[in-house]
Amino acid sequence: MAKIQMKTPLVEMDGDEMTRIIWQMIKDDLLIPYIDLKTEYYDLGLKKRDETDDRITTEAAEAAKKYGVSVKCATITPNDARVKEYGLKRMYRSPNGTIRAILDGTVFRAPILVSGIEPYVRSWKKPITLARHAYGDVYRNTEFRVPGAGKAELVFTGEDGRESRQTIFDFKGPGIIQGMHNKDDSIESFARSCFNYALSVKQDLWFSTKDTISKTYDARFRDIFQNLYDAEYKEKMDAIGTTYFYTLIDDAVARVIRSEGGFVWALKNYDGDVMSDMMATAFGSLAMMTSILVSPDGNYEYEAAHGTVQRHYYKYLKGEKTSTNSVATIYAWTGALRKRGELDGINELVHFADCLDKAVINTIESGKMTGDLALITTNKNVQKLDTEGFILAVRDELGELI
Ligand code: NAP
Ligand code: MG
Repeated sequence: MAKIQMKTPLVEMDGDEMTRIIWQMIKDDLLIPYIDLKTEYYDLGLKKRDETDDRITTEAAEAAKKYGVSVKCATITPNDARVKEYGLKRMYRSPNGTIRAILDGTVFRAPILVSGIEPYVRSWKKPITLARHAYGDVYRNTEFRVPGAGKAELVFTGEDGRESRQTIFDFKGPGIIQGMHNKDDSIESFARSCFNYALSVKQDLWFSTKDTISKTYDARFRDIFQNLYDAEYKEKMDAIGTTYFYTLIDDAVARVIRSEGGFVWALKNYDGDVMSDMMATAFGSLAMMTSILVSPDGNYEYEAAHGTVQRHYYKYLKGEKTSTNSVATIYAWTGALRKRGELDGINELVHFADCLDKAVINTIESGKMTGDLALITTNKNVQKLDTEGFILAVRDELGELI
């Protein structure tokens, strides 16, 4: 069979530890046999980042912007221990933070559903994708303890020197006080990413805040979303039969639990932080979560939501077999290949991505899975495989489908 030809290269960002090992296996065993894989390769492994004073990360992000679609392996975010372990020149910033800052994107987390790995919520039949605003609010706050009686005020001084001032509280005794902010342009680019993503997956978009209590702050989020919907997105969503839905955050959590899933849920920074861990756990496993960074101007970066699986890597280095789940990393590749295929009009590439996703699902549903899933599955007929064994089982299944 002739290999599938690509037009535009994918931006490939390699990474660290166990996920770097899996990365190569996926390419060798699942992709290269079928695709004349065209990538622009950036090695974001920690050693290379150190050699280039982290320029490689910026270059990769610039390429992601230039070509529009990228796929990223998990990478180490250095801390003190890593600086020692790798003898680093300095403690570099999180690569994901650097890339996010350059692409100005929003992160969408979506679970991969297979039967046998059941969500804890029985009504959920389809994935729920969570979109978290990654700027401001309590994550950029200013706060302090109030020592005793006195007046707390909120003061804004304009560039022209004019002041506006409001009393927060007249303290009669000690307490606490906090100031936080957000920016219209950040909220708008968040909203735009959410609408674009919902359109690209053809799902409804939900957004929720506490605007009944926060009548100016949260109301600003609500209004920016609504205005953008009315002005630019309503027509596009109507055309594919989807819609935008706004509700209060407490109403939203109740509806989410009762729902069948199958929508995108946009959340403010704190709500998204709390809810994403709940959703990942409620859907079954972190190793079955994908993560997609979408920029407001429509660039897509695909990765797994988990890290480099360090503990497994140290076992691997000692020559021991590991049973590391490669599903989210495979889905990062198929997500990127599918998007590239759609943008370039290469149907075979889209078809290949669909087949590989299906091969993964079929393999797990037949009982062949890695240890993390074997522990939680309801499937009675389980065959626990090691890291490469699972990828080879997917390869066999893929051969049947393609
Ligand atoms: P982690 O790599 O997500 O792993 C935490 C634990 O979760 C593992 O030890 C393993 O549990 C389980 N796990 C995660 N992914 C798995 C998989 N694919 N298959 C099987 N089990 C899996 O998080 P971490 O150990 O806290 O972080 C390791 C490194 O990853 C850190 O240097 C961190 O900076 C980096 N990180 C990178 C990203 C990213 O690039 N997006 C995200 C998060 C963390 P058991 O050990 O019990 O089997
Ligand atoms: Mg968190």
